[in-house]
Amino acid sequence: MPRPNSAASADPAGDTIYALSSGAPPAAIAIVRISGADAARALEALAGRLPPPRQACHRRIRDSQGELLDHAMLLWLPGPGTATGEDIAELHLHGGRAVVAATLAALAALGLRLAEPGEFTRRALFNGRLDLSAVEGLADLLAAETESQHREALRRADGVLGRQLAGWLDRLTGLAAAIEAGIDYDGEDVAVDTDVQRAAIASLAGEIGAALAMPPAERLRDGLRVAIVGPPNAGKSTLFNALVGAEAAIVSAIEGTTRDAIERPLSLGGMPIVLIDTAGLRDSSDPIEAIGVARARREQQTADLVLDLAGDGDDARHIIAVSAKADLAPPRAGAVPVSALAPHGLDALRARMIAACAALLPGEGEVALDRRYRDALAQVRDHLGSARATDDPVIVAEHVRLARVHLGGLIGGGDVEAMLDALFGRFCLGK
Ligand code: GDP
Repeated sequence: MPRPNSAASADPAGDTIYALSSGAPPAAIAIVRISGADAARALEALAGRLPPPRQACHRRIRDSQGELLDHAMLLWLPGPGTATGEDIAELHLHGGRAVVAATLAALAALGLRLAEPGEFTRRALFNGRLDLSAVEGLADLLAAETESQHREALRRADGVLGRQLAGWLDRLTGLAAAIEAGIDYDGEDVAVDTDVQRAAIASLAGEIGAALAMPPAERLRDGLRVAIVGPPNAGKSTLFNALVGAEAAIVSAIEGTTRDAIERPLSLGGMPIVLIDTAGLRDSSDPIEAIGVARARREQQTADLVLDLAGDGDDARHIIAVSAKADLAPPRAGAVPVSALAPHGLDALRARMIAACAALLPGEGEVALDRRYRDALAQVRDHLGSARATDDPVIVAEHVRLARVHLGGLIGGGDVEAMLDALFGRFCLGK
């Protein structure tokens, strides 16, 4: 739910801003957006009079010398029920360079200011039209390249995360009030059920812990990490090349050829994936190969999914056992038979990979958390853990208060300016 932001007062939102909000000309249509108190005056100056609110209207627009700029489609959107919360005008122009340049110059001549990157969205946040997580979702939406990134960004832009955080904060606030009441009225005739409070703290800590256990949002942006591991000569590089569809890794019958991990991004079932070919796992006296083997073991531990060319099928959920070179020898029981050279079995392996990766993505109504959220929520979880570890109500109250501070910072309170600057830097001009 959008909520007014405590940093609203810090916004120098006095100016009326404009920008080309569509892609670079030439294009069929160019959309220039204007936001701020002078939007109506600018639109009247260009078009002679204001169009009826919220109705597309075809008009000639002219500069202050009366020079015809374009035949344009105009939209007049009086605030506060607009994207930025301010008065907005949109000019849908013919998308030629000269048309756009002359129109932008006419707006500058009217005393309006060119918007900075992300400034429209910044105003939307300051005016309570979007909450922070929705703004981040919007940034992700503009950058989304794969289907899963698109879905996830839409969920965030829709405020799913904001609502979840606000719900947790409300519960913490209620808890804090109950605990304070218990301290203030200790010994008086006030019924304070500490068992209920403890259960509430435990359930909140459990929910936050579960959210923290999901793959981080960066994995959705950068790709789920899928590592191919196994002994030397197992066929790792050949499988890697077959899945990537390019001769990216060096294939050789000489053991120890792949000395370092090689990564390639690919999209599998609409999900972004980083496929990793690792050095063969063996004890090596070659110091450089030994470093590669150590890296391979690390990849094996940190990857979201492992394709194990020596595994036997009864593995953990995030491991798929693969029987490579299935054209040469009967496959191991329980392992997916694949011959990367024949080739056969690759589609079945891809299907298993897609199912395993899909299970790692957030489900309906869930959102993945990026670093800022994870760091703060880990603090919240730790303070709730400390609150559970003591019987002293004053210490419980202090930990709950600190948990609220960390959670509140995520929703927009606290020191948000630096974070806002970093966030809005991700937006392009005109957004
Ligand atoms: P790595 O050391 O595990 O990366 O293994 P490579 O991919 O370099 O393969 C080692 C050798 O096995 C090479 O000579 C490959 O041509 C061969 N090889 C790999 N995959 C297959 C396969 O599916 N079938 C057959 N017949 N040979 C394979």
